[in-house]
Amino acid sequence: MRKTADIVIIGGGIIGLSIAYHLALKRPGKVILLEKGQLGEGSTGRSAGGIRTQFSTEINIRFSLESLKTFERFEEEFGIDPEFKRIGYLFLATTDSEKEIFKKNVSLQRRFGIPVELLTPNEIKARWPFLRTDDIVAGTFCSWDGYAGPSEVLSGFAGGAKRRGVEICEGAEGAEVIGISVVQRKVRGVKTKKGEILAPVVVNAGGPFASSIGEMAGIQIPVKPLRRQLFVTAPFHLSDRTVPLTIDFHRGWYFRQEVDGLLLSGPQDQEPSFNLSVDYEAMAEASENGTYRVPALEKACIARGWAGLYEISPDNHAILGKVPEMEGLILANGLSGHGFQHSPAIGKVIAELITEGESRTIDIAPLSIERFKKGQLIVEPMTAFRG
Ligand SMILES: Cc1cc2nc3c(=O)[nH]c(=O)nc-3n(C[C@H](O)[C@H](O)[C@H](O)COP(=O)(O)OP(=O)(O)OC[C@H]3O[C@@H](n4cnc5c(N)ncnc54)[C@H](O)[C@@H]3O)c2cc1C
Repeated sequence: MRKTADIVIIGGGIIGLSIAYHLALKRPGKVILLEKGQLGEGSTGRSAGGIRTQFSTEINIRFSLESLKTFERFEEEFGIDPEFKRIGYLFLATTDSEKEIFKKNVSLQRRFGIPVELLTPNEIKARWPFLRTDDIVAGTFCSWDGYAGPSEVLSGFAGGAKRRGVEICEGAEGAEVIGISVVQRKVRGVKTKKGEILAPVVVNAGGPFASSIGEMAGIQIPVKPLRRQLFVTAPFHLSDRTVPLTIDFHRGWYFRQEVDGLLLSGPQDQEPSFNLSVDYEAMAEASENGTYRVPALEKACIARGWAGLYEISPDNHAILGKVPEMEGLILANGLSGHGFQHSPAIGKVIAELITEGESRTIDIAPLSIERFKKGQLIVEPMTAFRG
């Protein structure tokens, strides 16, 4: 089998599908998306679905605000309810240095018009009495934040892309990319188990596999897969009030409502791997962090758990755009735990870059892979939290 396309996208997670959809809106010719397994089976299907504006760098805030526009009108645009629940994110600080970081974040976020509140421990206790607050020194809350359903959003992008002519091939159809053809530093197409697809533009949207896809073209992409485990309790009523997505910043632990139960974060690995197993120690740590911060959780029991892979870049920011030494290769990698919530804006800027030569919506130059060679890493004070 030998096919031709104008653009091939490798990876059928939320990033690849958002790019496919946003490209299709611009009618760029033939677009083929290749997914080695099933759409969404990678990090996307294992995500907690969190959406926040409370970031600590300008570029991430820009991606959040742009993406929020899509989440707000998702049903209108895609005909699917994304289950976007604006329960707010509540960050808790337990040390003075964390409080200082929070204060700086609040002033940055307010510059963008984000209505974030800086709260005292007493205010936190009054609003969310189920939280242990004796060790808390400050908190921040933003009611614009919340979570949505990764599979609903993925279906929206996939359906929208298909309706506009994107060809989507999944694993059963031999869609795994096993090589990238290169001639004189120009991409010529991809090799799959079923044959070759010739295309002058190839997008790497391989999530935690970004680095191995880069190697197929002889390009080193510094993205590491790091396992994170999540757990969900059996049905548990914590409060009649809305429970925000609450982050115990120091412990790197968070929880939120998940249907009738509660979703509790487990630990994230320090060493890279593709390990997707769930272990007892992680469940014990999730429970211990949970009962420490929310004493009523002593009566909850964990019903299930799963693990997924973060796709971490050296400065916890995305790696987006062209690769100077390889014409035709486009990167949409290293989302570092924010890929679900930033997927609408990432699809849009990558589609602009491919069809118009530059991204107008957000300047993605600071996110170029070149920054690692030039030592221009982005400083992120909040790396302890992902999601
Ligand atoms: C536990 C956990 C919780 C998270 N919580 C949040 C959150 O609250 N909010 C948030 O915004 N983000 C969150 N994230 C991060 C988010 O899930 C990711 O950033 C996002 O899903 C990345 O999407 P992606 O499309 O790049 O990757 P993926 O969804 O992994 O998709 C990449 C796809 O590429 C395919 N692929 C790889 N190699 C090949 C090949 N050679 N040929 C063909 N196909 C290939 C894979 O099979 C995969 O389906 C979380 C992640 C984890 C692990």
